[in-house]
Amino acid sequence: MIATTGDTVDGRTARPAGRATAGTAGLASPPGLCRPLTVADTVEILADGAADLLAGGTDLVPALRTGRRRPRRIVALRRVLELRTRGASADGLIIGAGVTYHDLAGWSLSPGLAATARVVGSPQIRNLGTVGGALGTADPRGDLLTFLSAADAEVVLRGVHGARTLAVPSYLAEGRDPTELITAVRLPRPCGPQVYLKIGARQAASATVVSCALVVDRVRERVACAIGGVAGGPLRPVAAEDFVRAGVDWSTGTAPADVVAGFGELVAEAVRAVDDPLPDDPRASAAYRRHAAGVLAARAAGRCLSAPSPARSVDGRWARP
Ligand SMILES: Cc1cc2nc3c(=O)[nH]c(=O)nc-3n(C[C@H](O)[C@H](O)[C@H](O)COP(=O)(O)OP(=O)(O)OC[C@H]3O[C@@H](n4cnc5c(N)ncnc54)[C@H](O)[C@@H]3O)c2cc1C
Repeated sequence: MIATTGDTVDGRTARPAGRATAGTAGLASPPGLCRPLTVADTVEILADGAADLLAGGTDLVPALRTGRRRPRRIVALRRVLELRTRGASADGLIIGAGVTYHDLAGWSLSPGLAATARVVGSPQIRNLGTVGGALGTADPRGDLLTFLSAADAEVVLRGVHGARTLAVPSYLAEGRDPTELITAVRLPRPCGPQVYLKIGARQAASATVVSCALVVDRVRERVACAIGGVAGGPLRPVAAEDFVRAGVDWSTGTAPADVVAGFGELVAEAVRAVDDPLPDDPRASAAYRRHAAGVLAARAAGRCLSAPSPARSVDGRWARP
């Protein structure tokens, strides 16, 4: 049974039309609110493509308030507990779309995801914002999107005709189908160091100007990088990845300083060559972003691939000598 405004779902009554919720207060004509309990019910409600999904609401609520979004129905996902699980299998990690940044920030199974989640927004935003919301918004500066691109993550989608899985770049190229629900993301288990570095007005609580995710896989002998904030989506600088991969001594997982510096230069070159650069904005010109991307990439590679000094650990925190 599907919940629509004023109907009952699984024995619970949905909020009547016109009565404001925390998220829709102030709207001239609030849309209907559905509060399904399961993924199957949610997908059924989405079938006509006329509903917007409400997860943490950190992007959607401002859009509703300013009238940038005017859906006929809002589907609140808070009660769909299936979306809020995360776990690991032999193949990799699976993270439900309803998992929040706060949940990820302390997750020891994925240090890169945890580092990314820790620099998103303020504690309030991290408590509300979800993985599904980050993918639903698909902001080219979105921190999670950039990390997921470097980690070769896949997006799991479900519609009335079944489930399908898309690599993050394919998902971004297609754009979100309003009849589908993002149920989870899948990514390989970490097999080496991972870092996420971001330049913003402040480390957290402000939008990203440029960011860099670096994922080293010591088993498959690969280095993957994604740059956020320079193009219409996260940029994978493939030539730079190949260069640094060839320069790593995989018996120790380290690379010499000239390889690390060369990697930064190739990343800056890749940013210069993007077809869809983000325009200059008051916070940063395109030239600054290009320069900053190279600096961040070299810094990330230095942290992941330099021989650890006795006094400093790989993530940059001071260790006991
Ligand atoms: C003050 C502030 C600071 C912020 N700082 C940062 C920052 O530092 N870094 C950063 O990356 N972002 C930042 N954000 C953006 C925001 O927090 C993220 O984009 C967040 O992940 C959105 O998640 P949500 O659960 O709140 O999504 P919602 O606002 O609920 O939804 C966002 C969009 O995704 C869709 N959606 C939600 N769930 C699903 C699903 N399961 N399947 C399909 N579509 C879905 C919705 O319909 C909507 O279109 C900030 C936002 C604010 C307001």
